[in-house]
Amino acid sequence: MSMSTPTATQRTFNFSPGPAVLPVSVLEELRDEMLCLPGAGCSLLEMSHRDKRFLEILHGAEASLRSLLGIGDDHAVLFLQGGARLQFSMVAANLLRGSGKTAEYLVTGSWGKYALAEAVKEGDANAIYNGQADNFNAVPSAGDYQASADAAYLYYCSNETIQGVQFPTEPETPSGVPLVCDSSSDFLCRPVDMSRYGVLYACAQKNAGPAGVTVVVIRRDLLAQASADLPGYLLYRNHAENDSEWNTPPAFAIYALGKVAKWVADDIGGLEAMRKHNEQKAALLYDVIDAFPQFYHGHAVTDCRSLMNVTFRLPSDTLQASFIAGAKAQDLENLAGHRSVGGIRASIYNAMPLDGVRTLAQYMTDFAQQNG
Ligand SMILES: *Cc1c(COP(=O)(O)O)cnc(C)c1O
Repeated sequence: MSMSTPTATQRTFNFSPGPAVLPVSVLEELRDEMLCLPGAGCSLLEMSHRDKRFLEILHGAEASLRSLLGIGDDHAVLFLQGGARLQFSMVAANLLRGSGKTAEYLVTGSWGKYALAEAVKEGDANAIYNGQADNFNAVPSAGDYQASADAAYLYYCSNETIQGVQFPTEPETPSGVPLVCDSSSDFLCRPVDMSRYGVLYACAQKNAGPAGVTVVVIRRDLLAQASADLPGYLLYRNHAENDSEWNTPPAFAIYALGKVAKWVADDIGGLEAMRKHNEQKAALLYDVIDAFPQFYHGHAVTDCRSLMNVTFRLPSDTLQASFIAGAKAQDLENLAGHRSVGGIRASIYNAMPLDGVRTLAQYMTDFAQQNG
């Protein structure tokens, strides 16, 4: 082994919002199987997507997601490209365009706002809740919005990655209106009730794998209504009818995502255990914020705080800069808030070890005591 071979011990604590930290055991498996997938005679990177060994990987990833999330036969699971951003358009192109209905959006942060901006290109779409006036620091309760019984769908983003606000549970939906969710940054962080969803999608690179694949879970009865005039890639049913092989799927990203799902199931013990683990980690940071209310200003109101992205400000930009520099010196990396909002953001996705969060919490305590 050469001296420059990177090892697990050189890894820092990576609080990046995405692409983000992955479980070390998954990275080790990917490394071990890189040159030759056991028994296959070549790397997965070199294998046809029609090869039966890749189909086993594809179906295995789907089976893991179905079992973790409790996805039944009435939903299709698709592995697509184009990221979450393409879903902003695909959802509206398939479920809104030509429907004669209106799509209703709960806008609780930047990603919901961008999603709505794409939807209006496809048809009538509007925000029935918009938290912008409060700087997107909360999510609505049932009484805060009026959803129509004849809407094309009700759309929300379960965790706003930039602002760090998360729905504690699914919003109320009028019966018959499909619920659509962008779950990109909290996918697999806790159990969800899939029976409530028309569509739930997530790009992988926040909480479920590397960049390159987006998981779309869609109720099968919603597949039929889209117009065949859409560009073929944009039609969900092309992907559903062809087992996500209408065109070449992002094979390596699917492979890695399957390993992450297996890690959540086998190493963590499933989504309920994952939730407990995530609640424990998030509480460590929010407790420090609450212990120094004059120094740390949490962005989200208390009951909308994200388990995944902890956002807060310090009393000045100078202190924020020195907080980030001091953190870096302790191998706590990528803590700067999104360029559009500033402040500090600690992204503590599923794979962020407890140790990393403990180290950050201690650093925050020390920093507040020294500079408060
Ligand atoms: C990152 C993110 C997106 C954008 O994902 P891309 O894959 O870059 O298109 C959309 N929604 C949410 C909630 C995100 O966190």
